[in-house]
Amino acid sequence: MNDPIRVVVIEDEVAIRRFLKASFGDGEAELHEAGTGSEGLTLIARKNPHVVLLDLGLPDQDGLAVLRELRTWSNVPVIVLTARGQDTDKVAALDGGADDYLTKPFSVAELMARIRVAMRHAQTSDHSAQTAIEAGLLRLDMAGHIASIEGVELALTQIEFKLLAILAQNVDRVVTQRHLLLEVWGPAYEDSTHTLRVHMANLRNKLKAHAREGLKIQTEIGIGYRLRQ
Ligand code: CA
Repeated sequence: MNDPIRVVVIEDEVAIRRFLKASFGDGEAELHEAGTGSEGLTLIARKNPHVVLLDLGLPDQDGLAVLRELRTWSNVPVIVLTARGQDTDKVAALDGGADDYLTKPFSVAELMARIRVAMRHAQTSDHSAQTAIEAGLLRLDMAGHIASIEGVELALTQIEFKLLAILAQNVDRVVTQRHLLLEVWGPAYEDSTHTLRVHMANLRNKLKAHAREGLKIQTEIGIGYRLRQ
């Protein structure tokens, strides 16, 4: 039997904390609660959790400030909890080092799925030395710049290959538009979301022509893209 998953939640809404406590009631995970940012940071340092759930609207400081501080000393996966409609906050959190976000209200199933993805990714997050990336039936040969699905090569442009590689390294996680633009085109193109949309549409069509059901690029409107396998 594995150790329970240690989760720290930083959230001032008691109702949400109560919901989380009930969700983790079966011993699969152990929940440590903080109601403010500073308490939360102390708790993370003490408990060394596998995952952190971070509310962005905290009474003592902005959740983004908590994230910034945390990222100076920890790489623990962080899932941000936001209210509906706070898309600019989500983007800022993802660009600031959050791994994912959940929009309130969320279900237990959604929460658990996101926690699993964040933890899986934390275990395999060093892609620097990888010569191949696999995501389901998709395989990317990084040295040869070849993408294939079940051995059938996709005819991708260099840009499409780079986009797909970043998405595949972050499979099931959302990657922001800004991150893709910076990585593929560079700082001068940070705001060229139209260009990104065009290339992403082409890439999506090529994937669609080859892929079995399941493998697809999901658009998170106003935020970014997520490769689903
Ligand atoms: Ca709050």
